[in-house]
Amino acid sequence: MREGDTIVVLNAGSSSLKFSTFRADGACLERELRGQVSGIGQSPRLVARRGAETVADLALDDADHGRALEVLVDVLRAELHDRPIAGVGHRVVHGGLEFMAPTRVDAAVLERLERFVPLAPLHQPHNLNTIRRMLERLPGVPEVACFDTAFHRTVPEVAQLYALPRRYAEAGVRRYGFHGLSYEYVASVMPAIDARAAMGRTIVLHLGNGASMCALRGGRSVATTMGFTALEGLPMGTRTGSLDPGVLLFLFDEMKLGVRDVEHLLYHESGLLGLSGLSSDMRELLASDRPEARLAVEVFVYRAVRELGSLAAALGGLDAVVYTAGIGENQAEIRARIADGAAWLGLALDDHANARHERCIGVAGGRVAAYVVPTDEELMIARHVAALLG
Ligand code: ADP
Repeated sequence: MREGDTIVVLNAGSSSLKFSTFRADGACLERELRGQVSGIGQSPRLVARRGAETVADLALDDADHGRALEVLVDVLRAELHDRPIAGVGHRVVHGGLEFMAPTRVDAAVLERLERFVPLAPLHQPHNLNTIRRMLERLPGVPEVACFDTAFHRTVPEVAQLYALPRRYAEAGVRRYGFHGLSYEYVASVMPAIDARAAMGRTIVLHLGNGASMCALRGGRSVATTMGFTALEGLPMGTRTGSLDPGVLLFLFDEMKLGVRDVEHLLYHESGLLGLSGLSSDMRELLASDRPEARLAVEVFVYRAVRELGSLAAALGGLDAVVYTAGIGENQAEIRARIADGAAWLGLALDDHANARHERCIGVAGGRVAAYVVPTDEELMIARHVAALLG
């Protein structure tokens, strides 16, 4: 990598393609552009911003993922004034046990990554198709896969195993954990925020549409709430979180639901949306005075408190909590309610600091420190690409 080179970061979802670009500036990576193509498959729209300025806002007729990516590459080329793209980093949900570090992708690696499609059917195909198309579109430019599972490969085996016969674990049915790039970013900035907590026991609460928590000891993941898929753990915007597996048997056997119906139910119709019948968006639920909305929020908080206690047990104590992602960074009420439920652990928030979303929100002299740290998965990916390219 040379001074002024650009790294492009792509995060492909089922109906969206998020992107950022970073420019190498000395030892730093400066973010230049960020934006997304949203509504792919329905009414796609590409928005790109440079800081607060909108530099592109285009409606794309009938664009599928392939076409959206073509338009995006054209927009990036124009906005980067043909400065060289040194590499492209991709968020890839699943790297299994095999991929423990960011990896430059070629046809052989793509083939190996295809094997994880059944473990992340809603995300992995889009991640891999995007890489495949970029390899065709920008031949010679390194495409680097960064995995959401990789950060959790330090989790001890006892926390990875389900109590199934061992042959299932050998076939890959084990707890992998996700949101790893977010946790890795938070772990990377913690030494500058609280050196003692960074060396000690911290629980990071990544509370967004997808929600999970991670227990860090000395900055390494030792336990996390998501497992084999991104369904386990906390209830989320539209996902169930942990469920008695007996419920699935009942849905199949007694309610005669098909596999795809159950998949849709678990990923898209449940969580805050399912409980409230109103919305998957925490803002809307908190603004509503409907009892169903209140109950959905109560279940979310209750389950978060229980998971926090469980991770504190895995750590054998707690030095700090960090709130991040959409809800964690912006919803003071949810932060406070979870902290209230974890008061027995020694967690107490300073109401004023919490209401103002300050970085340090724990009470002065509190036993457990508390922070709000905006996550930056894209920057984490760009750092990995820069490190790999040297
Ligand atoms: P994703 O997992 O899709 O990246 P986000 O991290 O954006 O999701 O989180 C979405 C959730 O965060 C929603 O429930 C929303 O209510 C909440 N949220 C996001 N931004 C804000 C904000 N500025 N103020 C309040 N709540 C927010």
